[in-house]
Amino acid sequence: MSQPALSPSTAVAWHHLPASDALSRIGSAETGLPDDEAARRLEEVGPNVIQRAKGDSALKLLFRQINDPLIYVLLAAAAIAIAMGEAIDGAVVLAVVVLNTAIGFVQEFRASKAIEALVGMVPQTATAVRGGQRRVIPAAEVVPGDVVVLEAGDKIPADARLLSVKNLRADESALTGESVPSDKQVGVVPEDAAVGDRKNLAFGGTLVTSGTGTAVVVATGGATELGRISSMLREATEIETPLTRSMARVGRVLTVAIVAVALLIVGVALLRGYPPVDAMLAGISLAVAAIPEGLPAIITISLAIGVQRMARRRAVIRKLPAVETLGSTAVICSDKTGTLTRNEMTVRALWTPSSGAPGGEGGEAFEVAGVGYAPEGELRRGGAPAPDVPEAVRALLRAGLLCNDACMTCKGGAHGIEGDPTEGALVVAAQKLGVDAEATRREHPRLDAVPFSSERQLMATLNQAPGGERVIFMKGAPEAVLGGTALDEAGRAQVMAQVERMAAQGMRVLAVAARPLDRSAAALDEADLAGGFELLGLEGMIDPPRPEAIDAIKACHDAGITVKMITGDHLTTARAIGEQLGLVGEGARAMNGTELSRLSDDELRAAVASTHVFARVAPEHKLRLVKALQAGGEVVAMTGDGVNDAPALKQANIGVAMGITGTAVSKEAADVVLTDDNFASIRAAVEEGRRVYDNLVKALAFVLPTNLGEALILLVAVMTFPILGGTPMMPITAVQILWVNLVATVALSLPLAFEAMEKDVMSRPPREPGAPILSRFVLVRTVIVAVLMTAGAIGLFLYEYFSEVRGGVVSDVAYREAQTAAVTTVVLFQIFYVLNCRSLRDSMLKIGLFTNPWIYVGIGALLALQLCFVYAPFMHTLFGSAPLPLDAWITSTLVAMSILPVMSVERWWRNRRERRAAEGARRAAASEAGAMMHRGGATPSHP
Ligand code: ATP
Repeated sequence: MSQPALSPSTAVAWHHLPASDALSRIGSAETGLPDDEAARRLEEVGPNVIQRAKGDSALKLLFRQINDPLIYVLLAAAAIAIAMGEAIDGAVVLAVVVLNTAIGFVQEFRASKAIEALVGMVPQTATAVRGGQRRVIPAAEVVPGDVVVLEAGDKIPADARLLSVKNLRADESALTGESVPSDKQVGVVPEDAAVGDRKNLAFGGTLVTSGTGTAVVVATGGATELGRISSMLREATEIETPLTRSMARVGRVLTVAIVAVALLIVGVALLRGYPPVDAMLAGISLAVAAIPEGLPAIITISLAIGVQRMARRRAVIRKLPAVETLGSTAVICSDKTGTLTRNEMTVRALWTPSSGAPGGEGGEAFEVAGVGYAPEGELRRGGAPAPDVPEAVRALLRAGLLCNDACMTCKGGAHGIEGDPTEGALVVAAQKLGVDAEATRREHPRLDAVPFSSERQLMATLNQAPGGERVIFMKGAPEAVLGGTALDEAGRAQVMAQVERMAAQGMRVLAVAARPLDRSAAALDEADLAGGFELLGLEGMIDPPRPEAIDAIKACHDAGITVKMITGDHLTTARAIGEQLGLVGEGARAMNGTELSRLSDDELRAAVASTHVFARVAPEHKLRLVKALQAGGEVVAMTGDGVNDAPALKQANIGVAMGITGTAVSKEAADVVLTDDNFASIRAAVEEGRRVYDNLVKALAFVLPTNLGEALILLVAVMTFPILGGTPMMPITAVQILWVNLVATVALSLPLAFEAMEKDVMSRPPREPGAPILSRFVLVRTVIVAVLMTAGAIGLFLYEYFSEVRGGVVSDVAYREAQTAAVTTVVLFQIFYVLNCRSLRDSMLKIGLFTNPWIYVGIGALLALQLCFVYAPFMHTLFGSAPLPLDAWITSTLVAMSILPVMSVERWWRNRRERRAAEGARRAAASEAGAMMHRGGATPSHP
């Protein structure tokens, strides 16, 4: 093979070359590259990946840390303090701002890295022809000269010159911005055609929306059109979510309020006769006290931890907001095959029409108990026909084998199936009953095929029989296949009755038919499929439910989440599987796609609420279903794998794509990708979503009381404390407040993000989507804890100060000691309080004292720092602190412990209230259900 010029490939106008010239120019052939040549080229040009421009993301992150109104207030405070000659105070405020920015930046940077890493967790593959054999390879290993096979739903792996197309269309919006898919062709286009007009090229990174084709790769990685504009690309690593946005809004409102109160404090202080400098300092202190500086970092980190945990549980988040939305998911619409069931199809029953007039009695049912596919099982390969298999059944099996793309493989002695499991089951069934797959296919070479599509629900092939005759074989959903047969009404009714009988056992039923064609025919066209077929029979296969899906459905029901099954299968099959899965009760209502399309939007909205099984559903029905559920106010998760599922996935609040069987198009449209295609992983993601939200609420319930408490301490002091010798008395100074806010709060609240799942996380209803995160619970907590903390800190400050002064200690020393004691009390308060924030409902004894070791790491670190604060001389200079005697520690600890009984009472009261509310709701639901039964409506399948 000649050594082709592999790069730069841009020098060649590939679109202006005929396909055959392009092939030889790149040194390849229709049969693709041999493996060793592909390996050599990979070595030469490098992997087929596009280096994404990292750009200014780190800088932007840093800017986001600083670009916060709360930080502006702090900076202004520092400037004012320095201007007024309080250099140390100003410097400490500045230092703390820098420290806070640094901590926030490092954490968010790590979080965004973790999220970026998710992109690589969904593997990208390509189908290439290597040495004449089709092979699925990692997209990164595609090289120039590779012949790639393109199918609807694929992401095109690299820039390629098309060799053959069949209705091929590609969505090139990633490259051209044009959202209408572009029709592809093989013919030469003018040399000066714009990128969007080069119809005979397939561009890497764009998506095949329909049709099929083959193409020879001409450029990979950075040399592709997309690679050349990669600096303009940004992978979806958005780390803003509705929650962070709404918190930012709360932050802005809070800032305005805080500035107003701070100004008010300055006014009050001046009125009370404070020197202007002290009045200003009091205002600054209040601003510093009330601003929850650590909050943005805590939110981002909680979300990032959630993302990582979900990935470990096989749900890869593609869009960060999904982490939150998952927690409020109320309805999950799931595909059946492969997600709820195992997608391990086994033919269990065959049926052939009785000879003679169709519509006559019965037909022949053939139970094939032995047709189970077992890897280690004995397969009867070819040879003599099994004596007990009638010829009509053999004809059925043969047709099922020929109208089929699956093959049986034998790797290391274990038999397996390559291809669609539905088709694989037909191959295994034939083989087991003595119809040899290889020989049959050799004797009936295929001339043409119409591939299976979910829309048509059938597949057809044109084969040449040993005598040279041409036969079309067709298999598919019975309704679709019967349409092409000559059966009359009665005949069809008889077949459909048999279909129903098989489907009622949960079987997927395929009808198989055949028709002869002219000897001259070499290709299939639409008209050939319209009629004239003879029904050969039915094959019924089972696909057992996944046991973990049954558990997961139950868990979802307990969590107040409705699960709806959406399938392309027959209604009766779907309902039977729904019953096996525990999705619906016996005889529950199920709806067909055709019925669905007849309903108006309003009727559909009413119907979807009580229907949990949807059968013979086409992708466009999915979109309507999602919209109808959303119109009813539900937060909807929807799964999908096909190229046509993309609109429904985009419309759903949570679009869930399948990592293994899903098309690239569906993954691109999804918010979450399941790496194991398993329904149980959706449930896991929902669980983690709820946990993230819970942990955020915990962090808020912990942080906010501290801020309010500190602000209250200052308010009380400015309004009531005496002015001694011209200096107003302050229980805590501005820089001390910053110490508490940043050191204590951050050390203690971050570990809350690692807190275990609440026991009831999956036994309570989903969160209302619009419910404010500053819930009644958080607000009540904030007030109770803040008041208690204020009383404790002020009380202790006064007690320490006056008992020291009375004991003969110099007033200034006593003052600093009392302030240090007040700070220590607040810190100890927080330590005891954080233990109470570990669970929203249970006491820490109940959840287990040591279930989250990070809490103790935080507490340990904080105590060490606080000892520094109290005893290290440089801290005395910076923060105006002073050493404390042991008894001051003891009193502080005792005062701080007062939070424990108060929290116990609060918890008891809240739990009682919630229990009563839940009971009320249950009673209301029960009477509602009773009323429905009376009216003869559908029975809800779960509470
Ligand atoms: P689900 O939506 O639960 O995942 P599905 O997507 O597998 O189900 P389809 O693949 O659309 O459903 O199948 C719908 C119907 O088409 C099946 O009930 C079956 O009768 C028929 N069918 C499925 N696969 C094939 C195939 N390879 N060839 C012919 N007919 C098929």
